[in-house]
Amino acid sequence: MHLKYDAYDLKFDEVFAVSANARTGTEVIYLELEINGMVGYGEASFTPYMKEKRADNLIFLEALDFTKFKDVDDLASIQNYINSVSNYLPAKAALDMALLDLKGKMNNTAVRSFFVKSPNKPIPTSFTIGIGDNYFILRQLTKAYHFPSLKVKLNSDPLYIKHTIALIQAHSKQPIGVDFNQGIQDKYLALELLIWLSEQGIEYAEQPMPDHLIHQFDWLKQNSPIPIYGDESIQTIEDIDNKHQFFHGVNIKLMKCGGLSNAFKMIERARSYNLKLMLGCMAESVCAITAAANLADLFDKVDLDGHLMMTNDLFTGVAIDNGHLILSSNPGLGVVKK
Ligand code: MG
Repeated sequence: MHLKYDAYDLKFDEVFAVSANARTGTEVIYLELEINGMVGYGEASFTPYMKEKRADNLIFLEALDFTKFKDVDDLASIQNYINSVSNYLPAKAALDMALLDLKGKMNNTAVRSFFVKSPNKPIPTSFTIGIGDNYFILRQLTKAYHFPSLKVKLNSDPLYIKHTIALIQAHSKQPIGVDFNQGIQDKYLALELLIWLSEQGIEYAEQPMPDHLIHQFDWLKQNSPIPIYGDESIQTIEDIDNKHQFFHGVNIKLMKCGGLSNAFKMIERARSYNLKLMLGCMAESVCAITAAANLADLFDKVDLDGHLMMTNDLFTGVAIDNGHLILSSNPGLGVVKK
């Protein structure tokens, strides 16, 4: 088996702003694992809040030697080898995708059937609206028109929050969840905002405060009228064990946990603590979004829209029809390089 990889810069169609930063693109790595002319694809995406940097992940990939593996029948031994070299999670997510893509193709099976026993039905996904002025919000709402629900990025400014939610609700009847991306620094302000949001019919809030205030989430969870999902605070299965008591739900993402195989383990662990499950994504292309969509049936909420803002995507894969994800039934992940 041979590994090839390349750094690539994805460009967004508009500035994407959250409480912590504003970006016009994102760094990724695309990789390919090849056996006898058959190719599995994977993608690693890098987001500012994770300590993982692309340069370190490239060095990790450089250190790997897959020539000793002649097939993908024994995935566990290949994963063990990867883990023995190092633990760079986005690169591991990309490798896990490529291995599963290859395994599916070699067994003439869609990867989703490794994890999910239900039929291939369309899965509703939310559409994410970044932070911006009235014109930006209204442009985004036009793009979101056919989606069954919205995820609205918020900061800690009550004026912005109340204005933006009122603006959106004046133009849309779609159910709304909000994501603070750790933006609020005080539990009393957080609760005041959550109560106001609840009164407006907002369904849930994601990561209101930063992870370093994790112990304040205990009080916030007990008093919040709406469910609170952990995202930045819960990246791996160990985080679920250590921090499940602070949240009603968890946002699981392939880049945080190291791929579909680890995400699948996190689903079972999160259910054992009665956590609600959201499947999320970073800013990433169709390759990683399609990979994640193979697990979508197992989640209560799905937020897989990170690819919709890319202007230079190198892949095709999962389709979106009226805000529902449609996976092909082709063998592998369902990803095709353009
Ligand atoms: Mg989030």
